[in-house]
Amino acid sequence: MTIYDLLIIGGGPAGLAAAIYGGRGKLKTAVIEKGMPGGQAATTNELENYPGFGKGFTGPDIMQKWLAQAQAFDAEILYDDVLEYRLKGDIKEVKGMTGTVYQAKSIILANGSEPRILGIPGEKEFRGRGVSYCATCDAAFFKDLKVTVIGNGDTAIDEAQYLTKFAQEVTIIVRRPYKQLRANKRSVESAYANPKIKWVWESVPVEVKGDQVVTSLLVQNTATGEISEITCDGVFFFVGMLPRTELFVDQLDHNEQNYIITDEKMATNIDGVFAAGDLREKYLRQVITAANDGAIAAYAAEKYLAQKEENSVK
Ligand code: NAP
Repeated sequence: MTIYDLLIIGGGPAGLAAAIYGGRGKLKTAVIEKGMPGGQAATTNELENYPGFGKGFTGPDIMQKWLAQAQAFDAEILYDDVLEYRLKGDIKEVKGMTGTVYQAKSIILANGSEPRILGIPGEKEFRGRGVSYCATCDAAFFKDLKVTVIGNGDTAIDEAQYLTKFAQEVTIIVRRPYKQLRANKRSVESAYANPKIKWVWESVPVEVKGDQVVTSLLVQNTATGEISEITCDGVFFFVGMLPRTELFVDQLDHNEQNYIITDEKMATNIDGVFAAGDLREKYLRQVITAANDGAIAAYAAEKYLAQKEENSVK
């Protein structure tokens, strides 16, 4: 069985950056990815704050380049969904959904995060039938239709803007008071200027309604308690993210929200196990900071392996 020097779980920005560094550092490197490489960045149309690219480049474009660069340095991409993690010991072992067991001397956990489910009635029932968590993936289904967007963070505002390229009208439901949005000012200003965007303030969604597909959203005004019905064909939820750490969080130091705690070398509390990207406890979750984490983690893994090698010949 192949024993990799470096096994990276997750092929998003953190994982691919780690693969570029690991491969270039001549480590036998593999990335295990369960879907399309590129992670959330590959489902983000607007990525205008990634230096050197800016307007005109999409997330998928940029991630394709990273993937090609990692492969050019001989990093392997393995398609599997890791379900079991054995992180302790000199040889780390993970088992995929395919039943394959993968072994490595060091591992970088770069599993990322996933959209938080709000859990209101109708949300689960109409998922894929009007309820969505990804505008880049699903916006085209709503051409000339009406959609609502829940949330007011960077994702909600950016994705609402993207939705206006297709939808006739996009109504953003904000639980905060009038014009006190969480998202960055630049995105907010351009959303205010967009005539296709409507706003519903101080309100939370309470139920998605429909028959075969979504037909409306019930929202409650948090100040008055009044419930109103907004006719729409789609509801996009952007109410934050959760780290994908549940399968190994009990083996590692983590915070209350299950984000993995590392030192500045991305090292976890287990020797040879590193964490990079959105699943890590950190200040700013962006493509650029994920890349930073991935590069540091791979470099630290290389040093860890070199030190082990040196100790073994002593
Ligand atoms: P986020 O910043 O955590 O925002 C989540 C939003 O959901 C908040 O506005 C929150 O409202 C709202 N929300 C939560 N529970 C709700 C509920 N029960 N009902 C209604 N609304 C609810 O998440 P995010 O926007 O996905 O961003 C995640 C991270 O990625 C952030 O660090 C963000 O800066 C980053 N990001 C950056 C960019 C960019 O730079 N262009 C783009 C995308 C994401 P409250 O504000 O009232 O809590």
